[in-house]
Amino acid sequence: MKKDYYEILGVPRNASKEEIKRAYRRLAMKYHPDRNKEPGAAEKFKEISEAYAVLSDDEKRRQYDLYGHGAFEQMYSAEDIFRGADFSGFEELFNFDPFDFFGLFGRKRRGRRRGADVETEVVVDLKEVLKGAEKEVIYYRTQSCNGCGGRGGKGEQVCSLCHGRGEVRKRRSAGLLSLFTVSTCEQCRGSGVSFRERCRECGGTGRVSTKEHIKVKVPPGVYDGMRLRLSGLGEYGASGYGDLYVRIKVKKHPHLKREGADLLYEKKIDFITAILGGEVEVEGVEGKIKLKIPPGTQPNALIRLRGEGLPKLEGGRGDLLVRVVVELPKKVNKRQRELLKEFEKEGKKWFGLF
Ligand SMILES: [Zn+2]
Ligand SMILES: [Zn+2]
Repeated sequence: MKKDYYEILGVPRNASKEEIKRAYRRLAMKYHPDRNKEPGAAEKFKEISEAYAVLSDDEKRRQYDLYGHGAFEQMYSAEDIFRGADFSGFEELFNFDPFDFFGLFGRKRRGRRRGADVETEVVVDLKEVLKGAEKEVIYYRTQSCNGCGGRGGKGEQVCSLCHGRGEVRKRRSAGLLSLFTVSTCEQCRGSGVSFRERCRECGGTGRVSTKEHIKVKVPPGVYDGMRLRLSGLGEYGASGYGDLYVRIKVKKHPHLKREGADLLYEKKIDFITAILGGEVEVEGVEGKIKLKIPPGTQPNALIRLRGEGLPKLEGGRGDLLVRVVVELPKKVNKRQRELLKEFEKEGKKWFGLF
């Protein structure tokens, strides 16, 4: 288990950006591999730098606070964490690019032969945002070929066409000049290796296309456009699989509008109920909820139902906000008119409100 980023930097959860910066500077001075030759210092330096990369980035910090360490790691690879990280203000100390810095600890930047990432989409409704869900996802990717174990064939030899270079130079004369064009070798497709016996299952590419059925755990509180990362479920490449990104699409609810963790609902009531009060039904994520309309409720009043919203940043749930729309009769009959006139005589000025 990894430690909490706040604990790593020794700052409280509500620490300001300045406090976080100060804490990182102090620890970075202590553990920087150029200054500290003790075993474990380099690992510690990487750990505090990762914590700083997340907590100094407003959006990443928000997601970290919201989803916790486990879910955050699902959403971001180590590369994602350092991508776009702001280490400005520390140049005089380190002068590093976070990616080189990865290299420093034996982690290579994504090589060209690692398989590509794949993106797919999953649609959830508000109820699933509330509870979390396990969704079935079907997508296509390439996998290592079983017939040749991903090698492409039997009897590897240096490609006879490109002599192992993977590319072919062609000479073309243009008037007095000779021009060379360089293109990927057609025989080995750039790998520089050809086979005595090419694999029939994959035609020598080492990979086959597969249709994948997987189950994806969607944590509670997800929002539209958020991506979940499933490590190693992307395309096959000679040095490993890429990742699968599952983009969340939150289905629009017919009556509930989402605002962060809060939900907005509009309830029409008649003017008698608005004046005298009463009980009505409103729609929540999980179904109907009874709501008391207090006497004297004004048009457009907002009534807050605490804890009936969606999962929230600091734990717990947001609220359901009911906007009261008071409907007035468009026509009244003779008797109603008399009663209203009578009402007016009683000295009530509520008509003036409209
Ligand atoms: Zn094969
Ligand atoms: Zn070749």
